[in-house]
Amino acid sequence: MLDARNLSVRYGKHLALNDVSIKVGHGECVVILGANGAGKSTLLRGLTSMVPIASEGDVLFLDRHIGGIAPQKVVEIGIAHVPEGRGVFTEMTVDENLRLGANPRRAREGAEGRRKEVLALFPRLAERQRQRVGTMSGGEQQMVAVARALMSKPDLLLLDEPSLGLAPIVVGELFQALKRVRDSGMSMLVVEQNVRASLSIASRGYLLEAGRIVGEGAANTLMDDPGVRKAFLGH
Ligand code: ATP
Repeated sequence: MLDARNLSVRYGKHLALNDVSIKVGHGECVVILGANGAGKSTLLRGLTSMVPIASEGDVLFLDRHIGGIAPQKVVEIGIAHVPEGRGVFTEMTVDENLRLGANPRRAREGAEGRRKEVLALFPRLAERQRQRVGTMSGGEQQMVAVARALMSKPDLLLLDEPSLGLAPIVVGELFQALKRVRDSGMSMLVVEQNVRASLSIASRGYLLEAGRIVGEGAANTLMDDPGVRKAFLGH
């Protein structure tokens, strides 16, 4: 589904992403594990053209070269990006946020049916459709962000640190919901610092350190990887 090769991103003199190659298969949930500043957000921004990638890089999505595509076209080709900090409309209700999510051309047909499917994945939102998003908890707002992204009818969902700033119990609830999204067949690329939560839903992962991929493997082997344990689990 996604085959990104040799991606490098510079911010001025700083090389934030250094020759990174990753793949996501159809229906696969892949996690990029990295500490603060490792380049996780930069990788997602590079994939969606929010920052320019160096010329040797190439991004294939559904067998089409999309490197350098206009950022506003990304959603129309089937990639939904939930940025760090969620980007939900806090003055609007859950329902209004979801309806806005169906605004891209590809998503207009069948939007009502999709809204029902999405609400079935997030029962907590189904109960609160008329609630203003700004009055909801951080975990619920993150659910709104993911649900709104799903309304755009994506083939691939990119999630930037969904657990950020959430209490452990809320992280558990959110990842239960993300598991349901995965089980619906959605292809997902998740960048995270929360190793346990993200590996609990991923089948495969990559380890990103100072802009470089320094490890990769099946989710169950990564959990026991000495580098991962040392960097993230404190032993
Ligand atoms: P975090 O979890 O802290 O967001 P991250 O892994 O997502 O970390 P990035 O945000 O991708 O990391 O940042 C990677 C590096 O690039 C960091 O050193 C950061 O300071 C730098 N960086 C990020 N955005 C910019 C920018 N717009 N201009 C200059 N440097 C930047």
